[in-house]
Amino acid sequence: MTESVQRLEYDVVVIGAGGAGIRAAIEASAQGARTALVCKSLFGKAHTVMAEGGIAAALRNVWQEDSWQVHFRDTMRGGKLLNNWRMAQLHAQESPDRVLELEEWGALFDRTKDGLILQRDFGGHRYARLAHVGDRTGLEMIRTLQQHAVHKGIDVHMECTIQRLLTADGAVTGCAGYWRQTGELVAFGAKAVVLATGGVGKAWKITSNSWEYTGDGIAMALDAGADLIDMEMTQFHPTGMVWPASVRGILVTEGVRGDGGTLKNSEGRRFMFDYIPDFFRADTADTEREADAWYEDKVNNRRTPDLLPRDEVARAINAEVKAGRGSPHGGVFLDIASRRSADYIRRRLPSMYHQFKELADVDITATAMEVGPTLHYIMGGVRVEPDTAATTVPGLFAAGEVAAGMHGANRLGGNSLSDLLVFGRRAGLGAAAYASRRPAPALDDAQLQAAARDILAPFARDESGEDPYQLHERLQSTMQANVGIVRTAGELEQALRDIERLRARAATVRVKGGRTYNPGWNLALDLGAMLTCAEAVTRSALRRTESRGGHTRADHPKADKEWGKKNIVTQRRDGVLVLAEEPIPQPPPELQALLGDDVPTGAAATATGAKEAVRS
Ligand code: FAD
Repeated sequence: MTESVQRLEYDVVVIGAGGAGIRAAIEASAQGARTALVCKSLFGKAHTVMAEGGIAAALRNVWQEDSWQVHFRDTMRGGKLLNNWRMAQLHAQESPDRVLELEEWGALFDRTKDGLILQRDFGGHRYARLAHVGDRTGLEMIRTLQQHAVHKGIDVHMECTIQRLLTADGAVTGCAGYWRQTGELVAFGAKAVVLATGGVGKAWKITSNSWEYTGDGIAMALDAGADLIDMEMTQFHPTGMVWPASVRGILVTEGVRGDGGTLKNSEGRRFMFDYIPDFFRADTADTEREADAWYEDKVNNRRTPDLLPRDEVARAINAEVKAGRGSPHGGVFLDIASRRSADYIRRRLPSMYHQFKELADVDITATAMEVGPTLHYIMGGVRVEPDTAATTVPGLFAAGEVAAGMHGANRLGGNSLSDLLVFGRRAGLGAAAYASRRPAPALDDAQLQAAARDILAPFARDESGEDPYQLHERLQSTMQANVGIVRTAGELEQALRDIERLRARAATVRVKGGRTYNPGWNLALDLGAMLTCAEAVTRSALRRTESRGGHTRADHPKADKEWGKKNIVTQRRDGVLVLAEEPIPQPPPELQALLGDDVPTGAAATATGAKEAVRS
């Protein structure tokens, strides 16, 4: 039977309407391309809305000493030098202009006394660098971009899930999916497609990520022939809520520590002083007294170890909890109440105040929060060419969290929102330039019908078919238990066996009811992408036999110099995932000189006192 599929045609189709997608669409449209923005949530509701702490850019409003060179160095160091140097350079150079442009388009940032955009401290940044709007920066960013996009006349198609990229002769010709509201099928013909679909946190049980984060874009790109890189590099943010159970994983912004909050264990000890890696010692206060002095008097520019990069802090919390020095609900304490006034906390961190009051009945102006690591971000993803955001598939571009390279082995806080603006714009430019040289593609009916059959298949299966919710729960459990903060070969192999079994079961997944707003069906389709990403993460984690940034192997606790020179590339060939190692492009001498000789690795064994506790 032939399924009816609605057809729409554009020059450029952008899949995803978070910061990266909207910025890309604005740019493509500004270049004269007929542009569509497609998203599976409501317009204005993307994951970017949840971003709290700010946008990193060397604006030099708080610290004159800051520069793009220092931002570049911090980003590369934070990423343990696994970053694509050219992306880190473009990002550091262009993010100030992108923030000022956002302000020009109407974003209302917090201000310094002189009326400049205020910048706050965040982990791994040498200088206070994050432009912010209280702890609701993402909301302001999306509001501003959304308004700008609407006035540009860009067509927005919301509540539309794209399931597959369409190709001809190896190049992209469009994409196909379904309207969530009606369940009807739709295909977009496009000369160029930009992926801006975000990450894959929903494959883990404890995550700060929204329901949209099922890895659709990463899996679709891989299936269309694109390369993925460094999928093992997942970021566990050190501070998610740990209770009540129903809200476990929800983010507690790094801004709490940036504004004076400190981490303590059950003995009341500021344990981060025990975990300062040698590499950061020169930049970091050695004693509590010095760190306190830094808060009181920012002129000496010392750093508190509470603001070490996220991978370091997450591993330290993990180690404290494993050593029996955790809080009652399995985290540690984050205390801002004893250093800042109630008024200051409510003004600077209004969302955090309400989040804890409403979800946990805790008043953070009087009591310490309980926090613990939560899966937050994926540094790995689709490989892109830095200047144009082109993937390895002609006509396919990618920007934002779905893309890889910019953050290396560990992302610094605030560097995602700036990444979205810098590379969203570049992806829009790249896609529009590509589209201007191509004729309108013809969609292949056979491909469309094959996509339609796969999308509707869960309705056609009999009673013995699998329940999508159970499969999702199993996947999350195995990823949480076996592909977590600290990994071993045995656990990763177990995860691979589980994923294989789950994939076989997912092939028989069955849904009840009709196509209209059917969440079981939506999840049944999302499962395929989550399983693909989970497999790519696990295989890459097994392959990288070292500890670096977001990837810690208890059975290989040190960083390895040779691994530090390699990306792990994942491709799909004849239906199976194939991994290869490729040398990372090296920065030119003038940028190399900015980095110095030391290589921060984030190896688990470097933190004093953490050695035996990293895994138990
Ligand atoms: P998103 O904003 O997630 O947008 C993805 C879009 O793709 C959505 O519109 C979604 O509907 C759409 N989509 C997905 N799949 C499909 C599909 N199959 N078909 C159609 N549409 C699809 N970073 C910072 O730099 N600073 C911060 O302060 C900060 N705070 C954060 C706080 C929280 C709680 C979290 C979770 C993250 C935070 N981050 C922060 C990280 C940052 O918010 C994200 O990395 C970033 O917003 C990702 O943006 P994006 O444009 O790539 O994707």
